[in-house]
Amino acid sequence: MPYPPFFTEEHDRLREAVRRFVEKEVAPYVDEWEEKGEFPKDILKRMGELGFLGLRYPEEVGGQGGDYFCSIVLAEELARCGAGGFPMAVAVQTEMATPPIFQFGTKEQIERFLTPAIRGEKLACLGITEPDHGSDVAGIETRAYRDGNEWVIRGRKMFITNGPRADFITLVARTSDEPGYRGISLFLVELDRPGVSVGRKLDKVGMRSSDTAELIFDDVRVPAENLLGEEGKGFYQIMWELQGERMIAAAGCVATAQYAYELALQYAKERRQFGRPVAHFQTIGHLLAEMATQIEACRQFTYSVAYRFAQGEVPVKEISMAKLAAAQTACWVADRALQIFGGNGYMAEYPIERIWRDVRLNRIGAGTDEIMKEIIAKAMGLPD
Ligand SMILES: Cc1cc2nc3c(=O)[nH]c(=O)nc-3n(C[C@H](O)[C@H](O)[C@H](O)COP(=O)(O)OP(=O)(O)OC[C@H]3O[C@@H](n4cnc5c(N)ncnc54)[C@H](O)[C@@H]3O)c2cc1C
Repeated sequence: MPYPPFFTEEHDRLREAVRRFVEKEVAPYVDEWEEKGEFPKDILKRMGELGFLGLRYPEEVGGQGGDYFCSIVLAEELARCGAGGFPMAVAVQTEMATPPIFQFGTKEQIERFLTPAIRGEKLACLGITEPDHGSDVAGIETRAYRDGNEWVIRGRKMFITNGPRADFITLVARTSDEPGYRGISLFLVELDRPGVSVGRKLDKVGMRSSDTAELIFDDVRVPAENLLGEEGKGFYQIMWELQGERMIAAAGCVATAQYAYELALQYAKERRQFGRPVAHFQTIGHLLAEMATQIEACRQFTYSVAYRFAQGEVPVKEISMAKLAAAQTACWVADRALQIFGGNGYMAEYPIERIWRDVRLNRIGAGTDEIMKEIIAKAMGLPD
C-alpha cells in the first residue's frame, strides 16, 4: 500500500470549509495582524464556533471526533493565509499546549482547560524553553515546591508563543532536586494568578502575527490539582507532546513550501524578460521542477509518517526525519521562490518575503535541525 488513502470525502469537505474561512476571515486581515504583532482573540472564538479548534478531540470533551488527518487539513489550509504567525499560534492551541491535557489530564482538568480551549474561549500556551535551557529540556530550572495542598512555582520561560495574552500555560517545571529528566513534572497554570508576569514581549524576524513573550513566575501558587499527569514523569510526557508538535510542524512546512512554489510558478509564467516569460528559461523551469519534486517527496513521506501517528504509533525517528526534511525543504523552496520573483521578491508588497522570513523559524522551533539529527543518529545506533 504505497499511497494509502489518507484523505476521505469528509476531509475534502473540511478542507473546503477551512479554505473558505481562511479566504474570507483570515487572509484579508493578516497584514493588519502582522503590523500589530498579534491576532485578535475574537478570531479564535470564531474558530471555536466553527469547530476548527477541536477537530481530532472526541465529542465528549467538545471536539469534532475527527482523525489526525483533520488536523493536517487545518494546518495545510491555514498555511495559505499569507502569514506563518497565525497558523503557528493556532497550532500551539490545538497541537501543542492541549494534547497533554487530553492525554494525561483528569476529567476536571479537561473541563477547566481543554474544553474552553476547544471553544476558543481560552488561549493556551506551552512553556518548555527557558533563558538558559532550550535544546537541553532536561536541564530546565523552573522549580515547583510542594506547600500543603498547593505548589509554589518559581522560574522563567522564554520564547513563549501566545505568552503575552494566553489564559493558561502547560508548564514544564522541576518538582525535585534530582538532576536531569527525573525530577520534572507538568502543570496547568492560569496566567492571571498573582506572581505571573510578562517579562517582555519579544520582537522577531518573522511570524509577526503571533506574539511571543518571556514569562516570569514569582512564587506562583497553584492548587495541587493543577499538577498534570504523574509527578516526576513530566519529561516523558513533554517528549510525547514534542512528537505531535514536530509532526504538525512538518505538515505545515510542506504546505507552506507548496504555497511558495505556486506563487513562484504563477509569477514565472507572467513575468517577461528578453521577450518571453521567465518560466521559459530552462534554469527557472528546472528550478521549479526541482522545487515541485522536493515538495512532493516531503509530502508523501510526511503523510506516511502521519498515517502511523494517526494509528497511535509514535515513530520518533521518522517524525524527526519528517520535521527535519520538511523544515529544510520549506526554507530551500522559499529562498528559490524569492529568487524567481527577483527584486520584487524582496519587496514587502509581494507575499514571498514574508514566507521567506516566517519559514526560517521551523529549523529552530519544536527542536532544531541539529537536535533532529541527534535523535535520528541515536536511533541509528550511533553514540551520543
Ligand atoms: C518564535 C519562537 C517561538 C517559540 N515558541 C515556543 C513556545 O511556545 N514554547 C516553548 O517552550 N519554546 C518556544 N520556542 C523555543 C524553541 O523551541 C527553542 O528556541 C529551540 O528549542 C532551541 O532552543 P534555544 O533557542 O535555546 O537554542 P539552543 O539550545 O541554545 O541552541 C543553540 C544552537 O546550538 C545547537 N545545539 C544545542 N544543543 C546541541 C546538541 N546537543 N548537538 C548539536 N547542536 C546543538 C542548536 O541546534 C542551535 O543551533 C520558540 C522559539 C521561537 C524563536
